[in-house]
Amino acid sequence: MTNNSKSILILAGDGIGSEIVQQAERVIDWVNENNLDNLVTSTGLIGGASYDEYGVPLADETLSKCHEADAILMGSVGGTKWDNVEYDKRPEAGLLRLRKDMELFANLRPALVFDSLIDASSLKPDIIRGLDILIIRELTGGVYFGEPRGIENLENGERLGVNTHSYTTSEIHRISKIGFDMARKRSGRVHSCEKANVMEAGKLWREEVTALHMAEYSDIELTHMYADNCAMQLLRDPKQFDVILTDNLFGDILSDEASMLTGSLGMLPSASLGVENPKTGYIKAVYEPVHGSAPDIAGQNKANPLATILSLAMLFRYSFNSGDIADIIEQAVSNVLKNGYRTADILDKDNLNSISTTEMGNAVIKELTILHGSHNGSCNE
Ligand code: NAD
Repeated sequence: MTNNSKSILILAGDGIGSEIVQQAERVIDWVNENNLDNLVTSTGLIGGASYDEYGVPLADETLSKCHEADAILMGSVGGTKWDNVEYDKRPEAGLLRLRKDMELFANLRPALVFDSLIDASSLKPDIIRGLDILIIRELTGGVYFGEPRGIENLENGERLGVNTHSYTTSEIHRISKIGFDMARKRSGRVHSCEKANVMEAGKLWREEVTALHMAEYSDIELTHMYADNCAMQLLRDPKQFDVILTDNLFGDILSDEASMLTGSLGMLPSASLGVENPKTGYIKAVYEPVHGSAPDIAGQNKANPLATILSLAMLFRYSFNSGDIADIIEQAVSNVLKNGYRTADILDKDNLNSISTTEMGNAVIKELTILHGSHNGSCNE
């Protein structure tokens, strides 16, 4: 690797993983060929593919490679083949280990409605036209990780299931900082969502978000909202939101709800971010589509690669601070849709011909080339 090159570790995973990631790799090649950046890729195994090779869903040596990479692009994991594997060796356990070991505490999920896919949503066009929300979910704390937890047998013969919802001030601060910083780059508005009315951890969340806001982010418009109200408002008037900041449990639910406003699972990217890696100078980060490994269409060249390509755009924006490359990739995707190209999952009533995964990749590369050419042309005029 040369001094100014950046490394991307690619973990394709299972099912459609390798097919969708291949198309994103073509975009990486395009970026290199056009001298927009100097990227060096390597690959590793995760999920069922890793289990088959090493007997674990994420091997220690792969994890070491993850810590050394400047950024990680993932496909998806899982499949029925591994249904009977022990719980801690299942494909999904590899993903959880990766997130936990790299301390990826901030999950970013944009819910963006492309004009040309407006009919794919179950909501009325007027409600979602132009929708552009960023959900920021705390990913390593709260009820999914709190102790004590477990199922115990009681003396009276009943069983008791226990989970603990807890947050410390530092956990709330670091995710809130991400929320406010992102809002500064967008429209300057944050909705912080919890259940401060019935949960102490929610009350602390609200107090700490307010304190940080007053101390460092008074330029941002902060609104507190109960999470159940947010769930309702997302359906009633989603465009009132820009950045939604929330905890692990509510974020899990609200981000799924928000992403479904867009109507198309194959279109949704995500980023999971941690702290700066002192070895590389970049933040620890994994970028992946929201959807799973789609075993029902795996190996058929039918999967929609756009969520993975949009995840790559997020990688450029958040890991490499290359907003211009992210912009051109996002614009290419938008143009491809405008030009009527559809994989089977996003077909609409006016468009009955679907294209393959590879053809969608071709269309994106073609559009990137046109956009880049016209940009250079206009610069030279
Ligand atoms: P899924 O997201 O894989 O599939 C749901 C439906 O959406 C399927 O009909 C599938 O064909 C379709 N679909 C998904 N992505 C698509 C794409 N890019 N293009 C076209 N169609 C697409 O969810 P599932 O079926 O519940 O789960 C399958 C496996 O994926 C399970 O093992 C699950 O645990 C795993 N999973 C992994 C992740 C991840 O890797 N982050 C996330 C969710 C589920």
